[in-house]
Amino acid sequence: MLMPHNTKNPALEASDKVYALAFGAHPDDVELSCGATLLKIIDEGHRVAACDLTAGEMGTLGTPETRRSEALKAMEVMGYIARESLDLGDSELFYKKENLYEIIRIVRKYRPDTVFCNPPEERHPDHMKASRLVLDACFYAGLRRIETSFDGSMQPPHRPVHILHYIQFRQVEPDIIVDVSSTFGRSREGITAFGSQFHKEGRSDEPKTLINRKEFLTGLEARAHALGEQIGARYGEGFLLAGTLGVHDFSGMFPPAT
Ligand SMILES: [Zn+2]
Repeated sequence: MLMPHNTKNPALEASDKVYALAFGAHPDDVELSCGATLLKIIDEGHRVAACDLTAGEMGTLGTPETRRSEALKAMEVMGYIARESLDLGDSELFYKKENLYEIIRIVRKYRPDTVFCNPPEERHPDHMKASRLVLDACFYAGLRRIETSFDGSMQPPHRPVHILHYIQFRQVEPDIIVDVSSTFGRSREGITAFGSQFHKEGRSDEPKTLINRKEFLTGLEARAHALGEQIGARYGEGFLLAGTLGVHDFSGMFPPAT
């Protein structure tokens, strides 16, 4: 078993508070599904961190060690302030108190305004389990009578304001589409940091997986194109909202035609 640990990006300042915290069941879930949106948030001047719930040890390709070093490379390429790597058990990501509390600890540590997590309906059971665990942890993290500590100190309660489910394998109609035309190209670098998982010429002897087919990354781009089309943009990333979206800045949300 790998010990849970986190690595800070030394290039960025040390405070933990972030605007957005992106959870994934496995290393690379985040980059594959909402990487361009995270880059857009960073471009807008906000701090972003990522948290992998498992080390991906049951994956067909790569080892937990290679996947962890790839995840850290992705952190640097993407510009996250930190990346947490928990060890809640790939294919054993069960709904249990210990797992819930580990996620509550992370939510209270980073105090995000916005949380991204796996979609509620998915092909991989870990994705669905991660979705439920993160959603519930975000709620419970706001209850002061649920006590957690970090580095020996009690953590104050914190509840994120917005929770967005990104879209993975299963095609669903998104509630919102983010225009990621300016960042989609760069997000590819975050994905290819996970070199063990994707197609490379000359590695034809490797076991085939859904995502190491030569066509996989082309398919991702086609989907981003199709989503972008729906909002008049070159590329888009789609999300499901965990709650109801309140409109506070009407013309900001529904801008006049330019
Ligand atoms: Zn996954």
